[in-house]
Amino acid sequence: MFVYSIPMRNRFRGITVREGVLVEGPRGWGEFCAFLDYSDVECVPWLACATEAAEHGWPAPVRDRVPVNCTVPVVSPERAHEIVTASGCATAKVKVADPGAALADDVERVAAVRDALGPSGAVRVDANAAWDVDTAVRAIRELDRAAGGLEYVEQPCPSIEELAAVRRRVDVRIAADESIRRAEDPLRVAVAGAADLAVIKVAPLGGVRRALEVAEAAGLPCVVSSAVETSVGMAAGLALAGALPELDFACGLGTLSLLDGDVVDDSLRPVDGWLPVPAQPPVPVRREEFAADPATTRRWEERVARVLAESGTRPHWL
Ligand SMILES: [Mg+2]
Repeated sequence: MFVYSIPMRNRFRGITVREGVLVEGPRGWGEFCAFLDYSDVECVPWLACATEAAEHGWPAPVRDRVPVNCTVPVVSPERAHEIVTASGCATAKVKVADPGAALADDVERVAAVRDALGPSGAVRVDANAAWDVDTAVRAIRELDRAAGGLEYVEQPCPSIEELAAVRRRVDVRIAADESIRRAEDPLRVAVAGAADLAVIKVAPLGGVRRALEVAEAAGLPCVVSSAVETSVGMAAGLALAGALPELDFACGLGTLSLLDGDVVDDSLRPVDGWLPVPAQPPVPVRREEFAADPATTRRWEERVARVLAESGTRPHWL
């Protein structure tokens, strides 16, 4: 078990350093990097995802590469234009509804992103559950107009009931993210008619196999996204994207650029908007460079021990 600590290029989810654990088993390396606000019980699937990679390997892929989106944070329209153009991606995800930000600024940023992508590109927005129903309906209509058509809006409101209410009132597709990631029952979103799309992340769903089961049971088109892992954990997300029977939307797996460093030599960074589907996890040969300090290491070792106790499993990598 190896604990890493890598600075983030920008603050993300309130954190400036990404930490996690790399484990080695007979099939290779797995990564456990649940955010610190996740409880030990919520961490059980995250650790199962690492164990799957290290001990069981992944199902065979049906494609060898996947398209990814670029991500546009809360920046000026000029900067947004530059980010999209430099990425080479045909799909851009724009962060909107940041606390304290005005809708007019989101509208301008989205228009700049459309201009950079051209008419054939896809613009999606992520509100991270910031709006109430009425605000969401108004904002989505304006943003849709500015984008010349949005691909979808991700998690406009917090609850499943609100998502369903918004979905009835707008023509833009609704994607559920937080509603699936932390839900006790990720399928409730589909049952409630709350979304047209499911954002699925391999770690919180408990690995590639389990995520494939959730995707199938939900019966919704899926967008595979990351939890901002190193290339070791990213490989698991790519294995999921590679194995999904249908993949109609670009993946949110171009997130290595958020980290100021990586534990492997050949980082899984997109080229011209595409990432390869790896057959197995890469080997973290550069881990000494990003070794966590002794206190952080101890804290993660204790966390892993508690999560294992919760899960009642004893993997071979231990
Ligand atoms: Mg999201």
